[in-house]
Amino acid sequence: MAAVNGGTPPGCDAVCDVLVAGAGPAGCAAALALVRGGADVVLVAPAAPDRPRIGESLDPAAGPLLERLGVLGRIAHDGHAPCYGGRAAWGRDAPTEVSSVLGPYGPGLHLDRARFDTALLEAAEAAGALRRTGRIRAVERRPDHWRVATGTAGTTGTGGTFSARYVVDATGRPARLARRLGAAPGRSDRLTAVAGILAAPGGGPAGAERTSLVESTPWGWWYTAPLPDGGRVLMAVTDADLVAGTLLYDRDVWWARAQATGHVRQRITPWREPPGQLDVATAAPSCTRPAAGPGWAAVGDAAAATDPLAARGIVMALATGMEGARAILADHAGDGGALAAYARRITALHEEHLRARAVQYRREQRWDTPFWRRRHRTTG
Ligand SMILES: Cc1cc2nc3c(=O)[nH]c(=O)nc-3n(C[C@H](O)[C@H](O)[C@H](O)COP(=O)(O)OP(=O)(O)OC[C@H]3O[C@@H](n4cnc5c(N)ncnc54)[C@H](O)[C@@H]3O)c2cc1C
Repeated sequence: MAAVNGGTPPGCDAVCDVLVAGAGPAGCAAALALVRGGADVVLVAPAAPDRPRIGESLDPAAGPLLERLGVLGRIAHDGHAPCYGGRAAWGRDAPTEVSSVLGPYGPGLHLDRARFDTALLEAAEAAGALRRTGRIRAVERRPDHWRVATGTAGTTGTGGTFSARYVVDATGRPARLARRLGAAPGRSDRLTAVAGILAAPGGGPAGAERTSLVESTPWGWWYTAPLPDGGRVLMAVTDADLVAGTLLYDRDVWWARAQATGHVRQRITPWREPPGQLDVATAAPSCTRPAAGPGWAAVGDAAAATDPLAARGIVMALATGMEGARAILADHAGDGGALAAYARRITALHEEHLRARAVQYRREQRWDTPFWRRRHRTTG
């Protein structure tokens, strides 16, 4: 890809072919694919994530994507733990087991999420993407390029004003760049997760089970999974308006409710008290329409975010990061329909997710409560 006009427009600190905003799995996958496709890429993201990283179960389907990105070897030997599948007490008391061991891709992983995201970012930088610390502050359409203001200019490694032929929104659920271009993400509901990390108990890893567990309750559901360091993620998922009534924002109530479960409590027996803090995160599926337009594409959660029940957000982020990059490269090569086709594909994927999700929620019929009534009404 040739650099914009071959020169730096007045008022800009640097020129690039593609500016990628956000350095989560989607932004890094897009940057890697774009650099390998011959583009000059600047990757802009804050030095540290805005909130604690939640999302540690890596679906086995990530394997082939990581391989195509050239990072599978590093991820496979980076201290993550195998995930042999999941158990779900959903629709009945006894848990159903889903094993990934015999699936086409073998076991998944329980990630050290910060290490995983760092490995992807380092791979993107090693491939040639230029990392700039900062946030997107403004984006303006000029006749043949975008002018993007990020962070504070002037200091090595921090933002600046860039001229880019294409921009990629990989800023996660808030879709900060797409919003500035007039394409806000639409949420399906108000699903919310109240999550905590139980630190590894003294005396080594707490048990050897390596599966995730979901357990439904009258007000929503619990999810728990072991972390590679012997700690554990535990989260309660309900609707935002039900959090107050269930007092799930209160650590002691949250903990007492976890102790009152049938199966989750067995996974948390080594812990005597709740985590020091709980993180409240939006977990509703959402879709940005359109997810791409002339000169831009949204990827990952910024394009379409999935219900964490599916535990497929990272796979989707990697896949759409690569797809979005491919659409930009195709557009640059003269395929004028590539970005619109990508946007349609995102909408189709999202609708498919909503249909599968509606089926999943209808499988739980034990409670006639607001959380479940809302989901039983939805057809997807
Ligand atoms: C409660 C919960 C549990 C989950 N559990 C799982 C799970 O077990 N398995 C799974 O696969 N998925 C899970 N997910 C989903 C998964 O975490 C996301 O789908 C995934 O992180 C999306 O990657 P992303 O790169 O699109 O966005 P993110 O990972 O959110 O990255 C966004 C990036 O954009 C940057 N950024 C933000 N604002 C700006 C700005 N203005 N300018 C520049 N950069 C900016 C951020 O710093 C960050 O680098 C879960 C989600 C939730 C809410």
